[in-house]
Amino acid sequence: ARRKMVAGNWKMNGARDANASLVRDIVFDVKRFPDIDIVICPPAVYIDPVGQMLSGSSVQLGGQTLCEQEKPGAFTGEIHGGMLKDIGCSYVIVGHSERRALYGETDAVVATKFLTAQACGLQPILCLGETLEEREAGQTEAVLARQLAAVIDAAGVEAFKSAVIAYEPVWAIGTGRTATGEQAQAAHAFIRGQLAQANAKIAGSTRILYGGSVKADNAVALFAEPDVDGGLIGGASLKAAEFLAICAAA
Ligand code: 13P
Repeated sequence: ARRKMVAGNWKMNGARDANASLVRDIVFDVKRFPDIDIVICPPAVYIDPVGQMLSGSSVQLGGQTLCEQEKPGAFTGEIHGGMLKDIGCSYVIVGHSERRALYGETDAVVATKFLTAQACGLQPILCLGETLEEREAGQTEAVLARQLAAVIDAAGVEAFKSAVIAYEPVWAIGTGRTATGEQAQAAHAFIRGQLAQANAKIAGSTRILYGGSVKADNAVALFAEPDVDGGLIGGASLKAAEFLAICAAA
């Protein structure tokens, strides 16, 4: 059985005081959930202090992105995967739709970041997902297949032994319009099927999270689907009670 995961993507939100109370409330309650992996992905400047507050708890840390360069050096403003590892990250989100749409990350760049993350000892959380326009044009599966193939071609299917996938339909992100359990299941089963064409065993063990307007009240139905192995949570990860209720649903 695949161990469920709930990961909070804070995006560009947070401040020292607010982070401290949010993390304190999460850590206080997290012992209730020994059977799932819980990950928090703060903005880069807050990873280290959040990590210090998490020490001794089972909550793990992740970055939201990393530089595609394999070696550190003269890349002003960028953050090397080895630095994320050095400050205690186990995971890093790669290919989030906001990075793809707003910062020009192509499938090729996403694949390079995936490889770099693993070379630095981080597990990539690879985000895939179609826009509303693509869904309405009947292109959902073609988009998911293309985004996933870019990484499988570059890294090999074996790489998914230490990676997580997140299906995040762009139309559901931050919109309050979540996918139904049925829509999520269909996409997750398709993604798992694509992996299975390359390696059935790895397909069976790879976790596929759902992301897009997950809240406490829709998490139960989403996480009940057989191919939904947890969630990647944006807005609702900024409120301790909501995030913990989502963990309870997993
Ligand atoms: P929301 O949960 O705010 O819709 O964001 C989802 C997401 O993009 C997580 O990476």
